[in-house]
Amino acid sequence: MKVARFWEKVGDKVSCRLCPHACLLGNGEWGKCGVRRAVGGRLVAEAYGRVVALAVDPIEKKPLFHFWPGSRVFSIALPGCNLSCQFCQNWEISQMKRGVGTWDGVPQVKPEQIVNEAIKRRCQGIAYTYTEPTVNFEFFFDVARIASKKGLYNVWVSNGMMNPKPVKEISEFVNAVNIDIKSFTDEFYRKICGGVGVKPVLRAIEEFHKNGVWVEITTLVIPELNDGEPEIKKIAEWVKRIDPSIPFHLSRFHPDYHLSGWAPTPEKTLLKLSEVARVAGLNYVYVSNMTGADGGQTRCPACGTPLLERRGFLITENRLSGANKCPKCGRVLEMMGKVIKGSGGSVI
Ligand code: SF4
Repeated sequence: MKVARFWEKVGDKVSCRLCPHACLLGNGEWGKCGVRRAVGGRLVAEAYGRVVALAVDPIEKKPLFHFWPGSRVFSIALPGCNLSCQFCQNWEISQMKRGVGTWDGVPQVKPEQIVNEAIKRRCQGIAYTYTEPTVNFEFFFDVARIASKKGLYNVWVSNGMMNPKPVKEISEFVNAVNIDIKSFTDEFYRKICGGVGVKPVLRAIEEFHKNGVWVEITTLVIPELNDGEPEIKKIAEWVKRIDPSIPFHLSRFHPDYHLSGWAPTPEKTLLKLSEVARVAGLNYVYVSNMTGADGGQTRCPACGTPLLERRGFLITENRLSGANKCPKCGRVLEMMGKVIKGSGGSVI
C-alpha cells in the first residue's frame, strides 16, 4: 500500500490537496479520479505502479515540437483522470474506475523497472501520458527522479488540473510539459469535462513556465463547442502574454466516447484558427490530425524560412544551423535538446 502525498486530515475524513477538486473522503471512499482512496485515516495511491499502457513514441506525438525533435520517448500510463471529458480518446484507461473498468490483475511494477526498460529500448526520455499523470503523482515522481539521474529527460502530458505545490515539486525533474487548454470558459470545463474551471489550468501553466520547464500548449478544436475565432484568439493572446514562443498546437477532433456521433472538425476550420493564433502574435502554431496539410513544418518566425520538415511524426529535413539558428536571417529558434533526423518511435 502506497500512502499518497498532498492530503490532510479534516475531522474523521481526509482531504486531498493534489488537484483543485479537493475531494473530502470518508473511510473507503474514492476520489473523483478513481485512483486515490481514504483508508484508515490516510490517503492511499491505489494505482501505484499499475501500468496500463506503454509504447515507444516519437516525441512529436505528445505533441512536443520544440523539445528534442525526432527523439524516441518511452510513454507510460497509469489508470485514472481528474476530468471526465465527453470526447476523451483514451477513456478506457482514463475513466477506469475500480469496480467498473479495473486494474485488478495488472502487475505492479517498480519505478526503476520503467527506467531500465526505457534505456533498453533506446529512448532519450520518458513521457507520463495518455491518462492524467497528476492523479498518480507518487509513482511518476519516483520514476522521474531515477530517470533524471540516469540522464533521461522527463515529459509531463497533462490537463493542467494541478495545485501549485505538486507543480513545483515535479518541476524539479520534469523537463517539458504539454498542457491542454481545452477551452477559455469555465462553463466548458464544468459541463463538458467535469472540471472546476479554466483558472487552475492557466495557473499551472504559468507555474511550470516560471519554474523553467519547457511548455507547449494543445487545444483540441471541437465543432460548435470551442471552435469560435474569439475563443481561440483569447487563448492565443493569453499564451502570448506568458511567452509568444510557446508552441501552440490546434488539434483536429475525431468522434469518440460520448461525442461519437459528433462531426470531425473540418480541416479548413483548423487552418483558419491557426491563422487567428498567428495574427494574435504567437511564433509557432501547429495543426495536427490533418490528412494533407504540412502542419508539422517549423518555420523561422522572423523570415518564414521552413527549417524543420516532418512527414507524419518523422523529422525528414533539418535546415537549422548550429545553435538552432535560421541559416537565412540568423534568428535563434526556441528549441530544447538535439534535433534527431529520421528517428522517431514505433508503437510496441
Ligand atoms: S487528485 Fe483525485 S482524489 Fe485528489 S483532489 Fe483530485 S480528484 Fe480528488
